[in-house]
Amino acid sequence: MPTVYLGLGSNVGDREDYLKRSIELLDKHPLIEVKKVSSFYETEPLEYPDQSWFVNAAVEMETALLPMPLLDALQGMEKQLQRERTMRWGPRTIDLDILFYGEELISETRLQIPHIRMHDRTFVLVPLAEIAPDLVHPVLGQSMADLLETQPNKTAFRPMVAEGQT
Ligand code: ATP
Ligand code: MG
Ligand code: MG
Repeated sequence: MPTVYLGLGSNVGDREDYLKRSIELLDKHPLIEVKKVSSFYETEPLEYPDQSWFVNAAVEMETALLPMPLLDALQGMEKQLQRERTMRWGPRTIDLDILFYGEELISETRLQIPHIRMHDRTFVLVPLAEIAPDLVHPVLGQSMADLLETQPNKTAFRPMVAEGQT
């Protein structure tokens, strides 16, 4: 089964809880097996800087779903978690993006893999490099650790501290 990496993000409501619930939904899916979950990070929003900070994480999983059915399943989960599609890159309860699907290269209207903006995003690379530092981008030929290190447009992030913890 191919190893798939997902990027998770939330910046509405109980952001940590939305992430946890999305991981539970992934885990419950009969054709998905979650292998690794990164720490949760708070990250600065890129677009619309006055929206609240995101919580981001990355997941490594195996799945028997082909890429398009996987996208359908993820969009179903986003819907279950009350995601409403308003403005692009605006606030959302949960965003589940496919970063890599094995070494597959897909370039269709509905689906591009590797995710076309991932290598340029601190909020994706920080959690991903935590769980898969040596994973090599099949097009760019660089590891996640290298991409993070050499990324030109770094944005702010900090490890999420759970409420009640100090
Ligand atoms: P971004 O893609 O910049 O992270 P976004 O995640 O906010 O933006 P969405 O509103 O979640 O964007 O999705 C917009 C469309 O992106 C989806 O309807 C889906 O068809 C398409 N898409 C293309 N490639 C991918 C991918 N690798 N993972 C998830 N969605 C993708
Ligand atoms: Mg996204
Ligand atoms: Mg998305």
